[in-house]
Amino acid sequence: MIPVTKPFLPPREEYNQFLDGIWNREWLTNMGPLASKLEMLLKDYLDVNHLLYVTNGTVALQLAIKALELKGEIITTSFSFVATTSSIVWEGCTPVFVDIDQKTLNIDAGKIEAAITENTSAILATHVYGNPCDVYHIQQIADKYNLKVIYDAAHAFAVTINGKSILEFGDISTCSLHATKLYHSIEGGLVVTKNPNLLKKIAYMRNFGISGFDSFSELGINAKNSEFHAAMGLANLNWVDRLIARRLEIINRYLSNLQGFKGQMPKWNSLANNNGAYLPFVLESEELLLRIKASLDSFEIFTRRYFYPSLASSLPYLEPNFLPITEDISRRMLCLPLYYELTDEEIDWICRLILRTQNN
Ligand SMILES: *Cc1c(COP(=O)(O)O)cnc(C)c1O
Repeated sequence: MIPVTKPFLPPREEYNQFLDGIWNREWLTNMGPLASKLEMLLKDYLDVNHLLYVTNGTVALQLAIKALELKGEIITTSFSFVATTSSIVWEGCTPVFVDIDQKTLNIDAGKIEAAITENTSAILATHVYGNPCDVYHIQQIADKYNLKVIYDAAHAFAVTINGKSILEFGDISTCSLHATKLYHSIEGGLVVTKNPNLLKKIAYMRNFGISGFDSFSELGINAKNSEFHAAMGLANLNWVDRLIARRLEIINRYLSNLQGFKGQMPKWNSLANNNGAYLPFVLESEELLLRIKASLDSFEIFTRRYFYPSLASSLPYLEPNFLPITEDISRRMLCLPLYYELTDEEIDWICRLILRTQNN
């Protein structure tokens, strides 16, 4: 069986080494030494000034919306994981969907202005598959209309643009360290902001709003993460460069095998690196997608329609909204198997099956 993704597990002794420390200290959660160390090392690795390690990427988004005190309408994309939209609704705001760019698959910055009303408070965009949005154009629009910007950078761990971390764009960027992501701590998330006051506020919010022994400064929630999760993050951090390098190798092997394939990868932001998080292809037609998917399924090779369906037209708590490009792309989008342990032989086999099915 070949899954579409497989969480990376470090050699067990590398994880165990951290567990010994936990047993010695008997400090299990509440910003323990491993969680603090992970924050410090990630700041360094990602080259950002401030960062908070939280429970998961969804809570990271909710903290961002809450901390910026957003109200009313938030302009966003329908071509993302459901957490991007559900976080907006969960925080009592209304998502206003703008269609994506046909080539990059990110929110079409050129269509944002037309969606702004007097109730718009922010733009929440996803760097889909780790491919950065047009962050300079989006910031221009935000400045002109006095809007906040949040980036859902769940896919964009270790992505830089113009040599600078993508996580430092917008008022806040969030990342997910879920087991299925490129770099993970089983469950986990990051909140990144350049604004130290905002960071402090979110740090209190993460811990019930507690600001001192007998005082509260904010409405808070429990968004902390445990020492066991931080330990996985620390163990995996020693591997992340190897993980990215191998994943990029895998992608290149697929691409060189798949000459003549009627599928195209998104157009990558020319100022950014690819972190090898996903292997997405827009196929020529949905019919071809279904044939390839069924054929691979029959050999227990699993692919994923990520993202399908379009959020705007399928969430039961929203009035359906059909965005032409998102609808079209989401029907033709297929992610192929990509994980550290995938072998060259498996890649070659998958590619042969794909081309044979396509040409039949
Ligand atoms: C995974 C993901 C999330 C949610 O992250 P969790 O850590 O699973 O809560 C949010 N947005 C996008 C785009 C994601 O892929």
